[in-house]
Amino acid sequence: MQCSSCGVDASSEPGGLAAARVTWTFGTERGRTVWTCPACSRRHARSMEGRLDSAWW
Ligand SMILES: [Zn+2]
Repeated sequence: MQCSSCGVDASSEPGGLAAARVTWTFGTERGRTVWTCPACSRRHARSMEGRLDSAWW
């Protein structure tokens, strides 16, 4: 299982796959399962907020 954004392998995370299943973000993209590591999840959240802000102002 790899991060769909940066490609890091979940088994190289602290705690390994078992921990990654808890901390990583799970989603589906065009019918297949995709995983996003915590670092990329935070980055995406920030960029989403950024877009929201620019649309709002
Ligand atoms: Zn990542």
